[in-house]
Amino acid sequence: MKIGIIGGGPAGMMAAIEASKNHQDITIIDNNTSLGRKLGATGGGRGNLTNKSVVPELYKSSSNFHYKELILQYNYQFLYEYFNSIGLITYHTDDGWVYPVSNSAKNIAEFLSNRVEASGVKIINNLFVEEIKLEKNSFLLKTKSTEKFTFDKLIIATGGKAYPQLNSSDHMLNIVQKLGHHIISSQPALAPIETTKQSTSLLNGVRFDATVSLITNGQRKGVNFGNMIFTEWGVNGPAVMNLSHFFHAEQGKVELNIDCFSGLTKELLDVFQTQKHQLLYINLLPFFPSKLINQLFKNSSLSKNISTKEFYQQFQHKLRSFFTLNERVIAVRDFSFAQISTGSVRATETDPQTLQSKINPGIHFAGEILDVIGPCGGFNLHWAFVSGIVAGKYV
Ligand SMILES: Cc1cc2nc3c(=O)[nH]c(=O)nc-3n(C[C@H](O)[C@H](O)[C@H](O)COP(=O)(O)OP(=O)(O)OC[C@H]3O[C@@H](n4cnc5c(N)ncnc54)[C@H](O)[C@@H]3O)c2cc1C
Repeated sequence: MKIGIIGGGPAGMMAAIEASKNHQDITIIDNNTSLGRKLGATGGGRGNLTNKSVVPELYKSSSNFHYKELILQYNYQFLYEYFNSIGLITYHTDDGWVYPVSNSAKNIAEFLSNRVEASGVKIINNLFVEEIKLEKNSFLLKTKSTEKFTFDKLIIATGGKAYPQLNSSDHMLNIVQKLGHHIISSQPALAPIETTKQSTSLLNGVRFDATVSLITNGQRKGVNFGNMIFTEWGVNGPAVMNLSHFFHAEQGKVELNIDCFSGLTKELLDVFQTQKHQLLYINLLPFFPSKLINQLFKNSSLSKNISTKEFYQQFQHKLRSFFTLNERVIAVRDFSFAQISTGSVRATETDPQTLQSKINPGIHFAGEILDVIGPCGGFNLHWAFVSGIVAGKYV
């Protein structure tokens, strides 16, 4: 049985390692100079490989999430033990984000590539698969190489269009569409958001935790609490990136509602009660960056000389509005700023337990090419790793 794996990212590499337990003749083809190029750039170079809080509820698809059982079975504990079994030792931060002990994503790409090679898998780099032809009981790949590639079974793990700096491509979606699959078009996801900056002009370079909602024509489409960073063109950071995929499907007026009060409600209210005679501005200094305090005063047109008592009398029924920044969204930044893309094979056209195509039995899919979006924090690499393991196991 000849197995071909197209795409040598985390999904393709895990598929190769797992498939080599049952098969002898496996070839992995990737268009980059080495396997795992994107993996090497993840987590700001540290490689945020998975998350202790992996649960199906945190993943999204364009319709209902199709791989609930798979995520329940191949959860954090599963991947942690799998990593240990191959010598990939990790640690986690207090909030559950998991990294390799070396803190080097590039090391992990090299490590996994080495494990693929040691499993007896043939690796072909610098080769782009242009087409797949269905032959009688086999698949013929069209490439620029003079070598003929015919396989009995295929695993397609070509990722998405995000981060074209590393030769990412969604060309495979055209190929599988020709093979009869329905596809979801590619849009940047987990990407920063450009805004008009009308109510955040003073905040460039400021970073803090807030509850951010994406509102379309008055309706809340998504909400997220976490860290955010203000830039000269808009907002960045996990709290915002996790909402970016809600923007594309929407028409009309789209706003970000940034609630700076939510993480601090009790503490702030206590101070308002106990420090009534201080200036409000002074009472806010221990809570917020000074640029943010100045922005809140500017947006509300309040005088900086207002006492806490006066402020509280005026605002006690609309406190949250004082601490909320509303920004009009212009756009989501393009693929070169995105961590993943939405472009994918329709999930319902795959078996949710084996990831085999229902349209073309003999083809399995793994990783970002499937219709799965996880939040920032290691959830997308978790999906890539475990879906690769599943495809490799059942091929
Ligand atoms: C800057 C950045 C930081 C990130 N940080 C994190 C993080 O810390 N944690 C996290 O969970 N996720 C992170 N992600 C997302 C994560 O990298 C992806 O979810 C993951 O790489 C997807 O794995 P994959 O194997 O499906 O695809 P990929 O890693 O994209 O691998 C697919 C491979 O297939 C190749 N290929 C494509 N088409 C063809 C073709 N036709 N022929 C041959 N080869 C082809 C591609 O060049 C690529 O090498 C980050 C992404 C980026 C861009």
